[in-house]
Amino acid sequence: MGVDVRRSTVAGVRPHADLTFYLGSHHSAWLAFADVPLFISHRRLAARRNLPRAATAWALDSGGFTELDTCGRWRVTETSYLHSIARYHHEIGRLRWCAPQDWMCEPRILARTGLTVRDHQRRTVDSVLSLRTAHPPVPVIPVLQGWTIADYLRCAELYETAGIDLRAEPIVGVGSVCRRQATREIETLVTALGPDGLGLRLHGFGVSLAGSRRYGRSLASADSLAWSYAARRQRNPLNGCRHRSCQNCYRFARAFYDRAASALRQAATASVQPALFSMPDPSVAVRATGSAVADRLAG
Ligand SMILES: [Zn+2]
Repeated sequence: MGVDVRRSTVAGVRPHADLTFYLGSHHSAWLAFADVPLFISHRRLAARRNLPRAATAWALDSGGFTELDTCGRWRVTETSYLHSIARYHHEIGRLRWCAPQDWMCEPRILARTGLTVRDHQRRTVDSVLSLRTAHPPVPVIPVLQGWTIADYLRCAELYETAGIDLRAEPIVGVGSVCRRQATREIETLVTALGPDGLGLRLHGFGVSLAGSRRYGRSLASADSLAWSYAARRQRNPLNGCRHRSCQNCYRFARAFYDRAASALRQAATASVQPALFSMPDPSVAVRATGSAVADRLAG
């Protein structure tokens, strides 16, 4: 039996009622005053001697893409990462979840590490298991890594074999998508994994406005730093801003947040459009994998 991605679809109803958009920021100081959830990288916090006390909920990115892209391996040890998670929990507070020390599967990153997609998947699952064994004070979320839909399903199978029931997880990250997110391929993938497919509560890493509109329906949460690139391209600051550029500007980022959160909300509450299923049927791709986990996850 394969997974019928349409089995849980009810027109006009979406399972994720508590959708959260996390505003990505390079500025950890924003934690002290932001009025919306933030997504901050470990790379931005680790070196800080004094940490801000959070005025808002936030989630921690492990900074894996930059780490692997620049070093070809994780230089941050697991012990050090665990120590930091505990420190952020106690000193900053309001940390909802942390990404594992995951291994992205973009060809560029595979070229840097010299490893295979399967190697990266195994190492990602191992990181989740190992970090959880230490019982950190904040949940470490499982992240699915891969390149094709079959890869992602195989990664789901690895988690299941390891004893992690992804459908019972409050949040499951979808990795290696943020640099190709506004594509039909990723829309198909996210649809196959989300509430209309396997039924996972997905976090989309680095989801643009276009991505939110395309497949926001299948997400439980998302983050984006896209405002930063937009601010750098914009010649003039916002009305009322005194700096030359809004590339470090909370007002600019906050305005982006409103648009991004609104796009996600609209996608979440939109009825299922016929166009969603005019694309190649993800269930066919899922069945084609012959994946045992797909059958089990289908219940
Ligand atoms: Zn500004």
